[in-house]
Amino acid sequence: MNIDSIENGYVIDHIKPGKSFEIYNYLDLGKLDVSVAIIKNARSSKTGKKDIIKINEKLDINLDILGYLDSDITINKIVNGKIVKKYHPELPKRLVNIIKCKNPRCITSIEQELPQICELTDKENRIYRCKYCEEKIDV
Ligand code: ZN
Repeated sequence: MNIDSIENGYVIDHIKPGKSFEIYNYLDLGKLDVSVAIIKNARSSKTGKKDIIKINEKLDINLDILGYLDSDITINKIVNGKIVKKYHPELPKRLVNIIKCKNPRCITSIEQELPQICELTDKENRIYRCKYCEEKIDV
């Protein structure tokens, strides 16, 4: 896999095969006017197969959501053709409109227009709590 073609942007690597479109949608990449390449079923020495997303654009994009989707993903940030940062995404401290509170008495069940806000309360056990009713949500 060569990333030389990218001048500035991101290479999101080690995506589980078949998951790249889900990630593409979560990041709303279709709405941005950026050049994106999706590579499906690339060969990987580690896991056999993987998907890769390349974003060839200088942009300030929030990739925290990837930590929720799959923390095994590797993010490479490219500046002027060089990898300046390589990291695994961490679980975001807050998820907005990603997971739904399951408490039937929660205000979000009644007032559907409210954003679903969940805060990370236990990083180790991947536990979020609803901001409104504090209901536990495992992810
Ligand atoms: Zn709730």
